[in-house]
Amino acid sequence: MRDVSFRQAVEKAGSQLGEPTKTIEQNFADWEGHTFGFGYGTGEPHILRALKGFFDAFGVDDRPNSYNYEKLYEAVTAPVAWLLINRLCQVDIIQYGTSPRFAWLTQEGEALRTFMASKTVGELEDIIGANDDPCYPNACNCGPNGYEKGRVCYNPFWPHHH
Ligand SMILES: [Zn+2]
Repeated sequence: MRDVSFRQAVEKAGSQLGEPTKTIEQNFADWEGHTFGFGYGTGEPHILRALKGFFDAFGVDDRPNSYNYEKLYEAVTAPVAWLLINRLCQVDIIQYGTSPRFAWLTQEGEALRTFMASKTVGELEDIIGANDDPCYPNACNCGPNGYEKGRVCYNPFWPHHH
């Protein structure tokens, strides 16, 4: 899944979209490192457990990709729910209409929630711990010659601004 709007956004920014060289696991590790990233081997199990609980509490009536904030409170506590809502809005994982008390996942958010649902917290920890060569939404280290100015790689969890 490599959408045209992402390529256009990359080219508009004056960058080149490199061929995919990473697995979805590595894409997740890059996403986590960029979005949270200051766990240093101690914070990750807590961050991942909170994120997983947050996504597991999604589902409003017949809309599996939407949440009601009160269900998030039950799942992860109100302070954690609001910290995650804030960060995930910033990185375009969730979007909302009039208030993020009720919101839904973007295309990137759906990909993220689906991926995380397929792994345990322990598996996600291992995936993050094995990420030696991180890439970022605006900088890539995984090209044939490592870092290359102007190159970015595709990651289904980065904001694509469509
Ligand atoms: Zn890369």
